[in-house]
Amino acid sequence: MIDKHCEFCGRPFVALRQTAKYCGDVCRVKAQKRRKAKKMVAQPKRKCAVCGKDFRPKTEASRLCSKACGMRETHAKMRAAKEAERHIQQLRHRALTRRTGEAVSP
Ligand SMILES: [Zn+2]
Ligand SMILES: [Zn+2]
Repeated sequence: MIDKHCEFCGRPFVALRQTAKYCGDVCRVKAQKRRKAKKMVAQPKRKCAVCGKDFRPKTEASRLCSKACGMRETHAKMRAAKEAERHIQQLRHRALTRRTGEAVSP
């Protein structure tokens, strides 16, 4: 048995475990809710990296307003990767034709 003070209401209570922080389930749940509410407030609005709309991110890491924008970003990345690949192939082709002495098309 350990004498502790509840981290939510501050009342002294007897904890059965060393890790106990609250006097009961009521305070534990309330503390959790308060933590969550704080988290929501802590995230300022930011602009979506895809559509540029203002949105409130759920987590610090989120940059996009919706799943739809996530899909759009993925598609854009895939398209960019394909473009880059085609560009490299073009360069390679040009280098090859130059080496073999063929006429290089403008
Ligand atoms: Zn309490
Ligand atoms: Zn968006």
